[in-house]
Amino acid sequence: MREDAQRGFTHEDYTVGWICPLEVELIAALEMLDEEHEGLPQPPSDHNVYNLGSIAGKNVVIAGLWKPGNNAAATVVTQMRMTFPHVRFGLLVGIGGGVPGTTEQGEMPEEGRIHLGDVVVSKPTGIHSGVIQYDHGKAYNGQFERTGALAPPPPVLLQAAQVLAAKRARWRRDPLAENIMRIDTTAPKMSRFRYPGADKDHLYPPEYVHRVRGVSCRQCECDTDQRIIDSLAEEADKDALPLIVVHRGTIASGELVIKDGVVRDRLAQEHGILCFEMEAAGALADFPCLAIRGVSDYCDSHKNDDWHGYAAAAAAAYARELLSHLPIDQVTRLAYVPNLEKLVNFVDDHERQDILEFISTRDEGAVQADTLKQRHKGSGRYLLETEQFRSWVDGSQILFCPGLPGAGKTVMTSIVVDHLQQQFLDTPAVGIAYFFCNFSQQSIITEDTFMACLLKQLVQSMPQIPGAIREYFARYRENKRRRPQLDDIYQWVNLVASQLSRIYIMIDALDECEAEVRTSILSQIFDLQSNCRLSLFATSRLVPDITSQFEQYPWLEIRAHPDDVKSYLSGQIAKLRPFVRKDANLRELIIESIAKAIDGMFLLAKLSIDSLKNKPSVKSIKSALKGLPTGSSAYNQAYQATMERINSQDSQTFAKKVLSWLVCSKERLTLSQLQHALGVEIGSSAFDEENLPDIECLISACA
Ligand SMILES: [Zn+2]
Repeated sequence: MREDAQRGFTHEDYTVGWICPLEVELIAALEMLDEEHEGLPQPPSDHNVYNLGSIAGKNVVIAGLWKPGNNAAATVVTQMRMTFPHVRFGLLVGIGGGVPGTTEQGEMPEEGRIHLGDVVVSKPTGIHSGVIQYDHGKAYNGQFERTGALAPPPPVLLQAAQVLAAKRARWRRDPLAENIMRIDTTAPKMSRFRYPGADKDHLYPPEYVHRVRGVSCRQCECDTDQRIIDSLAEEADKDALPLIVVHRGTIASGELVIKDGVVRDRLAQEHGILCFEMEAAGALADFPCLAIRGVSDYCDSHKNDDWHGYAAAAAAAYARELLSHLPIDQVTRLAYVPNLEKLVNFVDDHERQDILEFISTRDEGAVQADTLKQRHKGSGRYLLETEQFRSWVDGSQILFCPGLPGAGKTVMTSIVVDHLQQQFLDTPAVGIAYFFCNFSQQSIITEDTFMACLLKQLVQSMPQIPGAIREYFARYRENKRRRPQLDDIYQWVNLVASQLSRIYIMIDALDECEAEVRTSILSQIFDLQSNCRLSLFATSRLVPDITSQFEQYPWLEIRAHPDDVKSYLSGQIAKLRPFVRKDANLRELIIESIAKAIDGMFLLAKLSIDSLKNKPSVKSIKSALKGLPTGSSAYNQAYQATMERINSQDSQTFAKKVLSWLVCSKERLTLSQLQHALGVEIGSSAFDEENLPDIECLISACA
């Protein structure tokens, strides 16, 4: 707890709301948390009781209700969203009454009808959001009216539910059962969460009414012969935790409890309802939510509390598993949704993805993520702080960054991309696009693929896809249009550019793009600059054909900054032999010598330090440092040395020497004798202490 408080979570850190009205549901929810967080202050107007924590890296606000029912849920949700402004969606997790019909949507049809202890999850079908709200009075009179507008759950949640369903269908182990077992039912007061057993799952025909209100079926002697025999329940091992069946479909939410099997079946049949509950509708009115219900009764007159604990646990277990399948960045990326109009965007999210894929299938974001990973912590800051870079961000049109091979241009480009993405995180009208040219992909970089990829990224920056593109896509889907051609793409790029307040384009390694393609791309971008505020950042090796195009613009050479190199080398030294790590002078010497020799070429620093990895003694390291390749031919030399090392394997030759001494000497050598024997240099008259091989090297060579 103390640790969490020190970590200092704020109200803004919580992105998932978990609403559970009953105490039994709240306890189950708390058992699903990976971490519990300390409470945060709340305004006097907020009467909710919150429990804070995290599941799989997502911070969750758990809110109880002071009384069940739609109106209470609405109040709780409204207050929660004011106190925790970054909550993006809600999970309504608790118990509900199941409809004992066979589900079409159930992932495992062989499991048959809905049973007690199953889980029902809302799933939008046709026109509605997965939860339909009804007025209970009207429902009794046979009229069933939807009241209120319900927001559907965000697509990421539905996708996560789908992924989870697919995984559960294939996996032998069941993550839901594992989650349920987090609850220690042997603890006092926790026994109510125990699985009651298939033999406690009693279903009567809808018209068979419970005999005496207020007492159990057994006490009032409801006719056991009336029970509907279920082959699955019959065969089930009474005590073993069953496979929890998850049914996805429509959940009905009303203000009163349904306790009549006939009413239940009529409503269910008319509207395809799988489950009845009492909170979702109120909460869903203007807030994207997913309802998750553990089935605790059959909505008939025989209902009792026996299954409350286990059903609540099953629902909570599902919610936990769902959150584990939700990518963290997708949760934070979800925009906050203050009203219904904006929800339209969520509904359209699927279409949006389809259109983006249609524009280009290239995923430059993946390249960016991979490249940024290679960044050594804090490196590259020197460039971001230069005058040239700052004035480029502020609006100058072009910054050309040439560099020698291996200077770190690609990583630097990814640092620039990341920097801009952070800076303009909350500014949707700024378009950020980038492209990493790469020799190995040269065959597929054409003007088309390049521009389409750029367009895709610019469109991604917009809150809404321009109508012209949507329309084209719709027609294409109906087979009334061809795939967009280069002309269409240019037209759209211009259209999008006119709607963005400014654009940043980063291109890495222009020299790794075919000359003809490069020329047309650059001329198109320069053209675009006359119509909109566009800033271009480009890196390249010093190729005359390219540098001539940037003569009149500011240049900023990319070279490994000495501080970056030193910090990189200090990190790498940890991977060298222990005798090096322990010797402060030697460490210093290595860092200084390499930093000096590489002359701004990061890749050389890597090759140089790699060449030291198997050196067995101080002397061998020192002599390697003296011979570090420098100057323009450094790369060839460094590569050659690397190749030789791979072929000869320093450590192998050393091991052979060690073994020869051990096998061929007349008497048994002590470690010290062996060290000295190996340290003798043929042709040298004096003995050099520094050539004594390290003992640990010696031992590991023979291992
Ligand atoms: Zn009964």
